[in-house]
Amino acid sequence: MTCLYDSWESWNEEFFDGVLVVPSIFLAEPKTPPALADCTSVSVLGSRSQIRIRPALLIGNHKCINPDTPMEGRILFLADILLHEMIHQWQEEVLGNDEGSYKGHGPKFVGKCNAIGALLGLAEVRVAKARGKNKDMPSCAHWPHKVRPTNYYMGAYVPEIEEVKKEKEGENGGDDDNEEIDEGIDVVDDLVERFSRLPDDSRLQFLNKIKALMKKR
Ligand SMILES: [Zn+2]
Repeated sequence: MTCLYDSWESWNEEFFDGVLVVPSIFLAEPKTPPALADCTSVSVLGSRSQIRIRPALLIGNHKCINPDTPMEGRILFLADILLHEMIHQWQEEVLGNDEGSYKGHGPKFVGKCNAIGALLGLAEVRVAKARGKNKDMPSCAHWPHKVRPTNYYMGAYVPEIEEVKKEKEGENGGDDDNEEIDEGIDVVDDLVERFSRLPDDSRLQFLNKIKALMKKR
């Protein structure tokens, strides 16, 4: 974890003019099941932002990780996932716009990916929805891991497994927009999720409170 904070600090200076506020970084399950990581604007510890990275990526039991490769490669992969989340952090903290209609992967996100990518010598990416002349470019939802040189992660990252699986399922493999790697916080979703975990009598209590609240307005 220390090395993730070190990466965060140097990237904050290098790519974000040092303006981001130190987040809480956790090796913890992100909110949505297929996501590799997520960034929310409120941390459980009360700091400004929270970044969660799926533990299976480090442990090596995730479908896109080959556990028979050096740990160093997995750490490089985790660091790149962190860099991706830092752009979401920048959207929320600096722009005040999480580009929710693009699930976070909109034009502003792309612009930042490509500005950083130019400094790192990476190919350009497009917004998550594949359209027009840019549709053959990789999606920013998978930046930067999809545009890193093949050997960069020392074999730790195995995108082939995902693609083979997709072909078997009969998808064309050309449109990967459903593979969102993360999503911003969604208050309503959170509320619904919590509500579904409540016992029946608490649910009723909750509903009555909401009704009372609606009447007041
Ligand atoms: Zn993202």
